[in-house]
Amino acid sequence: MALIGCGLIGSSIARAARLHGLVGEIVVNARSQATLETVQRLGLADRTEADASLAVAGADLVILCTPVGALAEVTARIAPHLAPGATLTDVGSTKQSVIRDVGPLVPPGVHFLPAHPMAGTEFSGPEAGFAELFQGRWVLLTPLPDTDETALARLEALWRGMGAMTARMDPAHHDRVCAIVSHLPHLIAFTICNTADQLEEQAKDQVLDFAASGFRDFTRIAASDPDMWRDVFLNNKDALLEMLARFTEDVQAMARAVRWGDGAYIEQSIIRGRKIRRALIEKKQA
Ligand code: NAP
Repeated sequence: MALIGCGLIGSSIARAARLHGLVGEIVVNARSQATLETVQRLGLADRTEADASLAVAGADLVILCTPVGALAEVTARIAPHLAPGATLTDVGSTKQSVIRDVGPLVPPGVHFLPAHPMAGTEFSGPEAGFAELFQGRWVLLTPLPDTDETALARLEALWRGMGAMTARMDPAHHDRVCAIVSHLPHLIAFTICNTADQLEEQAKDQVLDFAASGFRDFTRIAASDPDMWRDVFLNNKDALLEMLARFTEDVQAMARAVRWGDGAYIEQSIIRGRKIRRALIEKKQA
């Protein structure tokens, strides 16, 4: 198994695959020497390669674990070196853009299987990963019309071996679902932290002093990696803007209810929010 990029997600795959004995040799390529050295120090790979083309040569499975904006460039570099019959997959948070950017570069005879583990934290880099990250979490696979069923089943078995649950989904549907459950919440968290940051100095200190009352949960999400999230927003533009437009309408409706003292509307909104939280706990996804 060759991992191209080894941050939170790549290093968690390395740890989980090793722990459960799911792969043979693990080879890691990363952009920086510092990351390669950390991977060696942590013993995450059997071999590290500074040259991505050497990392993928002879690999049965290649997993692209970089930010989605880097995938076209990375794939162009490795494509001529992929072994016939190999599986090329990714973990990117957007799927239509990955299919657009990576798909045309994949040589004939290589199985391209886009995938997205719905698991993560606000931390990044190889030290942030852990073997249990995917335990009980969904991995969404967005197969193409000509996808090889045997290769797809093998990849699903790998993810299930790491403790995940798998589902197949249309790429456009994936991007709309992720826009509402992940991308919009991050956009809101970054924005609310910016709003607080722009308040005058004294109020800002107080924001931090009393942050435990709700703001704190936004700051955790807002601590996420800037490169990764810039790429997600730019590569899921249509779905994100659609969900943002819907959200903006709902925010305006709430503002109107506050202005006009419509307590019933406010109460109903809160009750719906509480129901969603309870449903999440019941599905063990909280
Ligand atoms: P990360 O911890 O920041 O690691 C990113 C890795 O990609 C690092 O090894 C980095 O190399 C490499 N990289 C960054 N920019 C690159 C470039 N331009 N060219 C080549 N390599 C580059 O990120 P992550 O959280 O693991 O995310 C990786 C992927 O998983 C992203 O596509 C993201 O959308 C997806 N994802 C993330 C989460 C999450 O919650 N974090 C959840 C699901 C899916 P260096 O360390 O050498 O710089």
